[in-house]
Amino acid sequence: MEMTIGGQGVSGGDYFDVVNPATGDVYAQAPVCTAAQLDQAMDAASKAQLEWRKDEDFRRERLQELSAAVMDAAPELAEILAHENGKTLDLGGVEAMSGAAWLDYYANVERPREVIRDDDGAHTEIVRRPLGVVAGITPWNVPVAMTFFKLAPALRAGNTMVLKPSPFTPISTLRIGEIASEILPPGVFNVVTGGDELGAWMTEHPVPRKISFTGSVATGKHVYRSAAADLKRVTLELGGNDAAIVLDDADPAEIAEALFWGAFWNNGQGCILIKRLYVPRSIYDGVVEALSEIAKQVVVGDPLGEETQLGALANRPQFERVSGLVKDALESGAKATAGGRPVDGPGVFYEPTILAGAVDGMRIVDEEQFGPALPVIPYDDVNDVIARVNAGQFGLGGSIWSPDIDRATALASQLDVGTAWVNSHAVLATNAPFGGVKWSGIGVEHGPWGLNDLSSIQVLHCNKGKTAPGAL
Ligand code: NAD
Repeated sequence: MEMTIGGQGVSGGDYFDVVNPATGDVYAQAPVCTAAQLDQAMDAASKAQLEWRKDEDFRRERLQELSAAVMDAAPELAEILAHENGKTLDLGGVEAMSGAAWLDYYANVERPREVIRDDDGAHTEIVRRPLGVVAGITPWNVPVAMTFFKLAPALRAGNTMVLKPSPFTPISTLRIGEIASEILPPGVFNVVTGGDELGAWMTEHPVPRKISFTGSVATGKHVYRSAAADLKRVTLELGGNDAAIVLDDADPAEIAEALFWGAFWNNGQGCILIKRLYVPRSIYDGVVEALSEIAKQVVVGDPLGEETQLGALANRPQFERVSGLVKDALESGAKATAGGRPVDGPGVFYEPTILAGAVDGMRIVDEEQFGPALPVIPYDDVNDVIARVNAGQFGLGGSIWSPDIDRATALASQLDVGTAWVNSHAVLATNAPFGGVKWSGIGVEHGPWGLNDLSSIQVLHCNKGKTAPGAL
C-alpha cells in the first residue's frame, strides 16, 4: 500500500511489517517515509492550503462527500481493522461510521458570526482563521475514528493536514488517504507512515503550525517540548485512568452491564474507558459477582467470527503490559474472580479479567492498564475516594453511579476531569468538547470548541466614526 502525498500514491524508501495480532502473522507491509518525502508532504500541504482556505462552502461540500465515501467504505475499513488491530468487524464498522458522522458534523455545523460591537462608531468582529498546515499523529487503539476526529475539524477550519498513524495500524489510514484523494484537492490531506522517529520529525518540522496529537503521556511530553521550540500550537489528547465510583444506593444487577462495557469496550483499549472501579463495601460482593458473571460469558476469539464479542489485543507489547499488570496485582493480593490469564494460541488474546480486593497503590490501580482487566476497589467513604482520585496525575474522565441523580451529579462535579458522567461512561458526541486536565491533555477536540482549537482569533475592527487611533 502507498502513502498519499500531494494527491499521489507514493511508495516508501523501505517497508515495515504490520502484524495481525490475532494470528501473529504478517498481514501487510507499510511504507517507511523518508525525510525527503516528509518534506514533500509538508510542501504539498502548504501549497494546497493557499486555495483550500478560501472557500468555506467548497470545504463543507468536500467533507460531506467524504463522509458518504467513508460510510460506503465502512465494511472494507472494518476488515482492515480486524486484521491490523484485532477488533471485531462490528466494532470496526462502528468506528468507521463514527468517522463518517464526524465528517458530516463538521460539514454542517454552523459557525455564527461573533460581532462584539456594531454601532455608529465601529464594527468589531471576531474572525476565526485557519492556522496553516496541521500535523496529525494518532495512536493504535481506534485509528480510523482518530483520523477523522483530527481531519474533519482541521479541514473545515481551512487547514490542510499531514497525518501519521501508529506503526501498529498504518493500513486503515493509508486506505483512508486513498479514498480521500478521490475527493479532496491534491495536498489537502497527506498520509505518511513510518516509525516513531517520523512523528518526531513532524513535530520538529518548520511547516506545521499546529500538532494535533493523541497518544501516551510520555510521548505527549516529547511532542510538547518539541513544539515549544518553534512555538507551534498543540492539542494533546493523552492517557487516562478513569475512575467509576458506585454509590451505596446503586443496584449491582442494574448497573453491571453498563459498567462492564464501560471498561471492556474495545478490549479496554480506550483512553476514556473505566480503568478502576470503586465500590462501597456494603454492595461490593454483589457488584464483583455481577461483573464476573458477565466477564465469564463474553465470547473472546477470532475478530472475523460472527459470535465474537472481543477480539485480540491490538499488539504484543500491549498484551505483555496487561499480562504483567495482572500478574503484579495477583502477587500483591488481588484475586481474579473472572479471567486472569492469556488465552492460548499464536495471537495475543486475554481473558476479560475482574480483579477483586484491589487497593490504591497496586500498579494496575495507579497506572493506565489500557486492556481487558478491571480492578475493583472497596471503599468506606466516598469523599475520601474522590480526594484520592483527584490527587492523581490523570484527569480525562470519571463517573458516579447511583439512582439518586442529584447526589450523583453533585459528586461528579467534584471530579477533576475533562468529562464527568452520571450513570454512564465513555460517551462521546460530535458536538461535545472532549479533552483532559493535568497529564491527560491540553486543548479539546470535537464540537465548535474543537474547531476553535484549530483556528486563530483575529479581531477585525472597522472604524466608522472619528475615534482617535488606539481607542476602541
Ligand atoms: P504512543 O504515545 O506510543 O504513540 C502515539 C503516536 O505517537 C504514534 O503514532 C507514535 O508513532 C507517535 N510517536 C512516538 N514517539 C513520538 C515522538 N517522539 N514524537 C512524535 N510522535 C511520536 O501511544 P500509543 O501506545 O499508540 O497509544 C496508546 C495511548 O494513547 C494511551 O496512553 C492512551 O490513553 C492514549 N490515547 C489517548 C486518547 C485521548 O483522546 N486522550 C485517545 C486514545 C488513546
